[in-house]
Amino acid sequence: MQIQYKPKRGWLATIFQAEIVQGMTLTLKRLFSKPITRQYPDEKPKIRPGFRGQHALVRDPETGDCKCIGCMRCAMACPSRCIRIRSHKDKEPGSRRVIDCYRIDSLRCVYCGYCEEVCPVNAIVLTEVYEYGSYTRPSLYFTKEQLLANWDRFAAELDTPVEEYVNPFWRPRGLSEQDLPAPKRLPVSPEWSGEQQVVGRKWRQHHTPEQS
Ligand code: SF4
Ligand code: SF4
Repeated sequence: MQIQYKPKRGWLATIFQAEIVQGMTLTLKRLFSKPITRQYPDEKPKIRPGFRGQHALVRDPETGDCKCIGCMRCAMACPSRCIRIRSHKDKEPGSRRVIDCYRIDSLRCVYCGYCEEVCPVNAIVLTEVYEYGSYTRPSLYFTKEQLLANWDRFAAELDTPVEEYVNPFWRPRGLSEQDLPAPKRLPVSPEWSGEQQVVGRKWRQHHTPEQS
């Protein structure tokens, strides 16, 4: 089989340099159309609700520590196996589990959101922060303290009061109200029901250009 890398050119195309004319036509057309590139970092993208960005451990305003109860559901649900938790329980009756170590290797994370979906107390979340690149690997292995600090930074920049902030992905999809633990019964807008969460080509069919 003969592989032809270049299409054959006719003598007219050779004389008039048809490709240059085609290229210039395209350049002129693009000159007057709306630009599709964004001048990042001067121009920031609009973050949609439910965006899965930097991890954070929600700080409990009562204790000042994380809300995590050490149930290990997030670590078990994580497909990347990038969550490590170590905890202990004090001997006094009624005492809650203390989290000694909570680590997430964000370089292995696939940002599926399963951890925040399964967490019964909304302790681990994926915030809307997307700018956290680094030159060193250790800074992206988040410890409990770093995860709490991530939450503090995110909470400080929220437009709404932190108590009213709801991320639609905190609520597991496809479960009825009575099957959810109390902290998961969140007032999520119907547009965030499972049926409306479409991705890829289907997304374009469901959204007008103004919404994009
Ligand atoms: S988002 Fe997914 S991959 Fe990342 S830590 Fe959570 S469960 Fe694991
Ligand atoms: S699922 Fe939530 S409460 Fe359970 S260990 Fe993970 S972060 Fe802690």
